[in-house]
Amino acid sequence: PWSVWPIPLCSTNQAPSGWMGSVTVQMFVCLLQGSPHIQVDIYERLPVPFGLVRFGVAPDHPEVKNVINTFTQTAQHKRCHFLGNVHVGKDITIQELMQAYHAVVLSYGAEGNRTMGVSGEGLPGVYSAKDFVGWYNGLPCNKELQPDLSHETAVILGQGNVALDVARILLSPLDLLKKTDITQNALETLAASKVQRVLMVGRRGPLQVACTIKELREMVNMPYTAPDMLPADFQHVAQALADLPRPRKRLTELIMKTLNEDHRGRQGVKRWGFRFFRSPLEVLPSADGSRASGIRLAVNKLEGVGDAVTAVPTSEVDEIACGMIISSIGYKSLPIDPAVPFDFKRAIVPNNMGRVEETTGLYCSGWVKRGPTGVIATTMNDSFDTARTILQDLESGAINVSVSRPGSSEVVPLLEKRGVRTVSFADWEKINAEETKQGTAVGKPREKLLDVREMLAVAWT
Ligand code: FAD
Repeated sequence: PWSVWPIPLCSTNQAPSGWMGSVTVQMFVCLLQGSPHIQVDIYERLPVPFGLVRFGVAPDHPEVKNVINTFTQTAQHKRCHFLGNVHVGKDITIQELMQAYHAVVLSYGAEGNRTMGVSGEGLPGVYSAKDFVGWYNGLPCNKELQPDLSHETAVILGQGNVALDVARILLSPLDLLKKTDITQNALETLAASKVQRVLMVGRRGPLQVACTIKELREMVNMPYTAPDMLPADFQHVAQALADLPRPRKRLTELIMKTLNEDHRGRQGVKRWGFRFFRSPLEVLPSADGSRASGIRLAVNKLEGVGDAVTAVPTSEVDEIACGMIISSIGYKSLPIDPAVPFDFKRAIVPNNMGRVEETTGLYCSGWVKRGPTGVIATTMNDSFDTARTILQDLESGAINVSVSRPGSSEVVPLLEKRGVRTVSFADWEKINAEETKQGTAVGKPREKLLDVREMLAVAWT
């Protein structure tokens, strides 16, 4: 039924990172292999590809970034084209893309973040993990963040892998970070850091902690650090161990082993730890009100059983004095275009197996499809589902290919009329070469360009 070809397809982004990048990438592989007639154009807001693989995955996890090689192979496929520097929803509407293509896939991730909703949240010294991660990873919009690391204790709200990434970056020996692609700016700020203790706060208990064992093990094994936990948080944990499913059991055993090790003799080390059963009530201002100086927490009790266990505040309150608070309670997708349905409660594009509700020819994949959770592998599997859905709709005729669509041959002139020049994959490779050259000079895999204008100048020389 789809003898009319080429069939241009468009994704509004390239796929993301170690976790996400690979996802969309693999979807395109699936599509390109699914039919010799399909063409894929990837629109990306920034001049550089790879989304959270480049701007989210921690600099000291280079092995995760290897998915970039897979993505590069896909982007170099003769039926796949990268069009960077295009802000979809601003430079071009979704309706215009849908007129130009037989199918459009939204894969624009989760660029907002959940807020704590407590007073004092806007005080200097309070940061979102999203901005902090973007800052050390060179995301252009976060380059001016200048986090204040002049206080001894930092509190992170959240106990997931992103919280652990942030804690590790704050506490890692500089010699380790110097060999990564962390920005020079971040390295200099971290070199002057006074942070000696990082506490990660969670609403529930040790049996519900959200990180994975690999990330926890990295914390446990980090040189020149020691754990800082409250034994009272671990009552009843030992008795519960026997009935836990295996991955949760191993994770809990590692926490318990860490708790029980004797670190008293270790002087001069930095400290990290979990604080369980606590929810933020208020960011406490300094005496002159100019910045954050601590956080007031409700002490919770747990109700319910198993995965359904919920944290309920008691009348007890706890306070931690700290000069830095990083809220790591989740990323959040935002609407891209008024014409696209959006579920504000769940912060996703509502869909059925990747088909956007009420909109024939529009699909979604990645975090915008199912919410901002899951590692690259999860996102990858989910993107295979969307690719299969598209191939099914081509087979069934639900995607009407009897009328040919112009694809980028219509979109690019429209963008040019609006003063938007696109960045090709070959252009990105010039940026890549420049970053690699600058990095090699200082013993790093790359030194990321932080400014979009600078990226464009290199891309278009
Ligand atoms: P993204 O990767 O965010 O991609 C979205 C892309 O869309 C971006 O390139 C963005 O610039 C672009 N875009 C946004 N809006 C527009 C627009 N309007 N127009 C055009 N383009 C637009 N997983 C692992 O397996 N291992 C890890 O070590 C790991 N570390 C992580 C660390 C952090 C801090 C985070 C947040 C996540 C991490 N993940 C990790 C998870 C992984 O990054 C995600 O599963 C995956 O990146 C989600 O992919 P995505 O395509 O949905 O979104």
